[in-house]
Amino acid sequence: MSTKKIQYLSKYIALSEEGLVPRLECPMDQGLLMPNIDLNDTIYLYCLSCSYKTTIGSSRYDSIKKLVKSRSSD
Ligand SMILES: [Zn+2]
Repeated sequence: MSTKKIQYLSKYIALSEEGLVPRLECPMDQGLLMPNIDLNDTIYLYCLSCSYKTTIGSSRYDSIKKLVKSRSSD
């Protein structure tokens, strides 16, 4: 479920802004990466300040999900 994945990623980014988890940074300019879904239902992260775009593999997503779950009470 891609929408669920986006929710976890958004939550992860919120936690990273509080300094609770490592930030997802753009390797080009250290800009903040935001999650989105493309037409093929693939989750990717894009940089707000440059055109950098990267997809999230399932293993990377799983570790993000694990971190979010360990940091949130619900
Ligand atoms: Zn960038």
